[in-house]
Amino acid sequence: MSSDRLRCVECREPIPAGARICPHCRSIQPSPLLDVGVVVAGAFALLFGVVLAVMTVGASRLLGLVLLVVGFGLAVGGCARYVDRRAAARAR
Ligand SMILES: [Zn+2]
Repeated sequence: MSSDRLRCVECREPIPAGARICPHCRSIQPSPLLDVGVVVAGAFALLFGVVLAVMTVGASRLLGLVLLVVGFGLAVGGCARYVDRRAAARAR
């Protein structure tokens, strides 16, 4: 995180930390922390899935493959959401 102050995604005014709704323009704020959490969780699931799929056989290998797919989806989805939001903020 480069800035410790939150800014509204709509009007760029500083808003109190943890505020869900901008006090200036009343737009709902996305939680960047949630996205980071999703990406980190996805990365961990991916890593764990690779280890399980490579090191084990049988049911746990299947579980590893499922983790791989889920982790990949989470990581890509989280990144895509972040990029979408950046693009939307720049378009305004
Ligand atoms: Zn605002």
